[in-house]
Amino acid sequence: MVTQNTDKSSKGGLNLKLTILGSGTSAPSKNRGNSGYLLEIGADKILIDGGAGTIRKLPLIGVSIWDITKIFYSHLHIDHTLDLIPLLFAYTHPSSFPKNRHKVEIFAHKDFKAHYNALKNVYGKLISCKKVDIVLKAIRESSLNFRDYTVKTAPALHTPQSIAFRFETPDNKSLVYSGDTDYCSNLVSLAKNCNLLLAECSLPDEMAVKGHMTPKSVARLINETRPKQTIITHIYPENDDPTLINRIKTRKNIPVKIAEDLQQVDI
Ligand SMILES: [Zn+2]
Ligand SMILES: [Zn+2]
Repeated sequence: MVTQNTDKSSKGGLNLKLTILGSGTSAPSKNRGNSGYLLEIGADKILIDGGAGTIRKLPLIGVSIWDITKIFYSHLHIDHTLDLIPLLFAYTHPSSFPKNRHKVEIFAHKDFKAHYNALKNVYGKLISCKKVDIVLKAIRESSLNFRDYTVKTAPALHTPQSIAFRFETPDNKSLVYSGDTDYCSNLVSLAKNCNLLLAECSLPDEMAVKGHMTPKSVARLINETRPKQTIITHIYPENDDPTLINRIKTRKNIPVKIAEDLQQVDI
């Protein structure tokens, strides 16, 4: 059980706000950084994935590393996790520490612990975080319950450690993040009727590879889950042109947008 302050909207429910910190992939892109997202639920600020360059985006939206309370990793690939190193370094050697001891909980597949310990072996004291409590939480359940919201999880079809997330408030505001994945029934079940589906669409149909979606497969996902809105992300340069939105052929009246870095969406 996690206790935290809540931030109620005028309608009485919790506010959810998503910021796209990076809508790109491992491939360097002029406009898209490595995968990274910030989800604000009430007073909680949650980093979802964080590839290279993610942490540097936080000050651009007025968020400090000391505001981050939780991190959720969809999988261990470098374009989703690398900025953990500069983040831990910043927590270890900041220009000033906050008055109160800071705590960050990291939620990820159980194999993340070995990855984290390997980083500690490489960087040692540089990322020791002696004045910050970094708490690893292996995701073993399909539903994590916090005081003000739940996070439902489902295995994604990408790597054995890949997890998709559904953040949901008691009044049914929900964000589903696919992480990297191919189309799969797990994701269809997880994303059914969500408010916002943040879905990867890595490559064009003619370049389809296993473990990632293309316009055709993401359109199938959207049509079968009927989210209130969809944002397409994790876009390789080969897929990143103005025709992308038209290549995703969804049913009418399901709004789909292409992510832009630093875009913010109220859910
Ligand atoms: Zn990726
Ligand atoms: Zn990946």
